[in-house]
Amino acid sequence: MLIPRWRYFAIGGGVLLLMHMLASIHPTYRANTSPLSLLPDTWRSTSVSGTYDSAGTTWPPDSAVPELTGKTRPLFDDLRVDELANRRKANAVFVVLARNSDLWAFLESMKQMEDRFNHWARYDYVFLNEEDFSDEFKRYTQSLTSANCHYGKIEHDHWFQPDWIDEEKATKAREEMIRKKVIYGHSVPYRNMCRFNSGFFFRHPLLADYDYYWRIEPSVKFFCDLTYDPFLVMQDENKVYGFTLSLYEYIETIPSLWASVREFMELHPEHLAEDNAMAFLSDDGGLTYNKCHFWSNFEIGSLKFWRSQAYMDFFEHLDKAGGFYYERWGDAPVHSIGAALFAKKDQIHFFEDIGYRHEPFQHCPQGEAHTKNRCWCDINNNFDWEWYSCTKRYTELFN
Ligand code: GDP
Ligand code: MN
Repeated sequence: MLIPRWRYFAIGGGVLLLMHMLASIHPTYRANTSPLSLLPDTWRSTSVSGTYDSAGTTWPPDSAVPELTGKTRPLFDDLRVDELANRRKANAVFVVLARNSDLWAFLESMKQMEDRFNHWARYDYVFLNEEDFSDEFKRYTQSLTSANCHYGKIEHDHWFQPDWIDEEKATKAREEMIRKKVIYGHSVPYRNMCRFNSGFFFRHPLLADYDYYWRIEPSVKFFCDLTYDPFLVMQDENKVYGFTLSLYEYIETIPSLWASVREFMELHPEHLAEDNAMAFLSDDGGLTYNKCHFWSNFEIGSLKFWRSQAYMDFFEHLDKAGGFYYERWGDAPVHSIGAALFAKKDQIHFFEDIGYRHEPFQHCPQGEAHTKNRCWCDINNNFDWEWYSCTKRYTELFN
């Protein structure tokens, strides 16, 4: 007799629980008829009031976070994505420097960018290459996105080693680096690439009408859903440079870079921003470089900033010094030093909630940001904490 009664209680309890769940879920999704109302709050608010939640704190609303029952929020359909595309947008674009042979490795990155962010954000892509892009490259990249892809060729002088570089000296420098086993020490194309990214990409005609860019490289990972538009953060908060990873540069690649930077600072003190981020670069007020830089394979930045007189003069000065070829100056330290010196420190932004990996390092959002943004990175694998990262220094200084 005891057993059947227990069963009635169990069934009754189950029915009550089910009714309770329906009552709590239903009004959220049924009471609103506009497709936009089905969107997470932050997406909806960008369209309606022009605001967003850069900290990701209102999405998803805590009450809507499902317990671990296997249920998730409904996936949105194409109709809702279309409505999202009409929200407020920044004048921004993805920038991809790639060879035709980078196609398949790049599609990995692009597919993730689309799935995490751009399927709803719909920003265009600009692809750049010193050669013509193949039809195959164009076909498979364009087919991954409903945004437009533009393909541009880089003009000769923006890419190849200039005539005024002393080739004998450059060859000797490369041989020395091979001996020292410096990564890419042997490579002229790599040096062309670093110089192009440092001083030329933002002058390409295909980028002329844009204000902000997000650089994407082949074979990177984006771990988390983007529930807000980082370009709007840049625009609305007057940021010029956004990063996710930072580290120390190999000194063998930049032995004389800081000497050139100091020369420039003496020649052009007027270009140095007040309240700049020199403290990120130097522990002794600018005497020496601590080698900290933002890892430029991920960059969300302002094109206008690179086109400013300060940065253009800076690049010109560095270029004339020849260190892109006589050493192996990377665009990461060059951009980082530029951003840290010519912008205010609060114009540099750490995109802490964007999970990102470029081999062999990753930034994995911690705490609530991980679950709220549906990240899939190992939460224990976070380069920010490693001794070789400069991010702790950055956050201690500026956050
Ligand atoms: P790493 O990240 O420093 O190891 O360098 P990568 O090989 O990833 O190159 C950096 C970026 O420049 C990537 O987007 C590459 O696709 C691109 N890249 C590198 N070398 C060349 C090149 O010779 N031509 C073109 N068009 N793109 C290049
Ligand atoms: Mn790379």
